[in-house]
Parts: sequence; structure tokens; C-alpha cells
Amino acid sequence: MRFDLPTPDPETQPFWDGARAGQLMIKRCRACAEHHFYPRPFCPSCWSEDVEWVEASGDATLYTWSVVHVNDLPPFPERVPYVAAVVDLAEGPRMMTNVVDCDPDDLEVGMSLQATFHPTSDAVTIVQFRPAATVSAR
Ligand SMILES: [Zn+2]
Repeated sequence: MRFDLPTPDPETQPFWDGARAGQLMIKRCRACAEHHFYPRPFCPSCWSEDVEWVEASGDATLYTWSVVHVNDLPPFPERVPYVAAVVDLAEGPRMMTNVVDCDPDDLEVGMSLQATFHPTSDAVTIVQFRPAATVSAR
């Protein structure tokens, strides 16, 4: 799977529809109330199939990242350096993503991030994260 242009399929279509509308959609288990990502047809915590789509807050904190300086696969050469990151969503799940709009030197473990949506094609809008805006600081 190309990371820059993932292919929506029936299981993940609601995620892509949400992203296109500026919503971060994740799944929640009705049995144990745990959220999970990426979307699966069952709950990875308790194996219940009673899972539903919910809109996440878009709030996250930075767990880890690496600054990618070299990537020979198109379309990455013109995008380097970029920040490949793992973030902890406020709802609990961990998500692989990119952090944008931030100098890599300013990244800090635990910093507050906010989802941002970047259309890459008619079908696919990717979810990235940027530092939480000062207006949303709590
Ligand atoms: Zn569960």
C-alpha cells in the first residue's frame, strides 16, 4: 500500500468519507467502550464485533517521530524532509501519521497536536497533525 495514497475499501470507507469532510473517524466498541484505530470489524481489546464509527476530537499528543530526509519513492523526494510520527489520540488509539506546520526542531514528546486534513486526490484526504493552535489551548 502506498502510504501517500491509501486505497479506500469497504471496511475503511467511512474513515475516508469522514476525512474528506474534515472529521477524524475512529471506531468505538459498544461492549467495552474502548476506541481503536486503524478500523477493524471487531474490537482488538475484547474481540466484540459490536463496534461503531464515532468522530474523534482530533486532539492528540506526540508519542514519537522521525524526520525523514531521504525517500526515493515518488512523491517523497520533493517532500523531504518530512516528519513521520506516531501520535496518541485523546480517545486512546495510537496512529501513524505526519506532523506538518512545525519545525522538526520544535517537536517534543507529549506536545499537543490537532488533526488537519490534506486532500491528495478526489477520493483521498489524508489526516495529518499539526501543533495545537494557541486558540485551542486549555
Ligand atoms: Zn471491546
